[in-house]
Amino acid sequence: MKQVAKSVAAALAFVALGAQGVAQAQEFPGSRPVSAVVPFAAGGPTDKVARELAMVMSKHLGATMVIENLGGAGGTIGAKKVFQSKNDGHTVLIHHIGMSTAPALYRNLGFDPLKDFEYIGEIADVPMVLVGNKNLPPNTFRDLLPYIKANASKMSLANAGIGSASHLCGLLFMSGIQTEMTTVPYKGTAPALTDLMGGQVNLMCDQTTNLAGQLKAGSLKPYATMQSRRVEAFKDIPTAAEQGLPNIEVKIWHAMYAPKGTPKPVIDKLSAALQKAVTDPGFRAKMAELGAEAVPAQRATPDSLRTFLASEINKWTPVIQKAGVYAD
Ligand code: ASP
Repeated sequence: MKQVAKSVAAALAFVALGAQGVAQAQEFPGSRPVSAVVPFAAGGPTDKVARELAMVMSKHLGATMVIENLGGAGGTIGAKKVFQSKNDGHTVLIHHIGMSTAPALYRNLGFDPLKDFEYIGEIADVPMVLVGNKNLPPNTFRDLLPYIKANASKMSLANAGIGSASHLCGLLFMSGIQTEMTTVPYKGTAPALTDLMGGQVNLMCDQTTNLAGQLKAGSLKPYATMQSRRVEAFKDIPTAAEQGLPNIEVKIWHAMYAPKGTPKPVIDKLSAALQKAVTDPGFRAKMAELGAEAVPAQRATPDSLRTFLASEINKWTPVIQKAGVYAD
């Protein structure tokens, strides 16, 4: 009898808790803001996409989205923070391709991108450009390659840490030209760009979302876009393939995640607001101006992101393993 009473009490408690969860989900977002963790420095490319998105998405969500920058270790520190955060919808992660390269690069990552998150949807695709300091002698990519080979021991290549997009792009570039340079890690490519402009480092591969201003002002040397076709907003920059280095294709995709166990109705609300934001003409125009492309609504969904992330992990893991690079 005692046992029965205990089970009934447990069942009632379970129902009450479930009801509380549903009620919380129904109330979401309530009056509290949503913190969007960007795992790179403020002012950089991921941050720019995130801030533009947050402005539009806040309207559709009915809550303020606040950006929290937590850079370091190629985005893995910020991702880990979200993995460990409360799963009530008030903390989300805005990350990029690094979510799919980290499992191969970090043997002790501490989280599994395919198991430890809820998926909200993709945001935007951004091309990369190899740029150099204005005073670097070569003016074209064709001239840059022999220059690097002749000066390899003095050449430096900035990145946002192991696992970052700039790191991946730099790896592919160095392996494509079969020459190693000194790599210099930063907490994001915003601080790296400052040093590149100042001449402390020579080269960097970065998203156009970070470089657009400098490219338009002509304050650095654009050598090549790292994809098979030219970038619409920067049509005058030739691709690496056009200039003799084929097979480099690094498209940076950004997406939004929540901690594992965030209730489905909450994820659905976040995803619905994301879908409205990516189809917002103002957001799409802003992305285009920065050389990026906001995804269509059907890619701003949990299922699409989950499938795409898995395919990107399958794509990059063998590439990274072949390169034999590890962060730890
Ligand atoms: N562009 C950086 C990277 O290389 C990230 C950032 O600073 O937003 O991953």
